[in-house]
Amino acid sequence: MEKYLLKVHVYECNDCDAIFAVDQDFEDHSAVQCPICLTDRKLKDVSEGEIRI
Ligand SMILES: [Zn+2]
Repeated sequence: MEKYLLKVHVYECNDCDAIFAVDQDFEDHSAVQCPICLTDRKLKDVSEGEIRI
């Protein structure tokens, strides 16, 4: 049975305080951007987890 779990990294933007999740399979972490202010420099990887989909 296939499990419908998506592993994610949770990022916090230090610029606008947005919190958002990125698919952990998304290998190129240097390309992660804040969806609000589009910065890629002030992001903190705050946690990781799984989302059941
Ligand atoms: Zn931001």
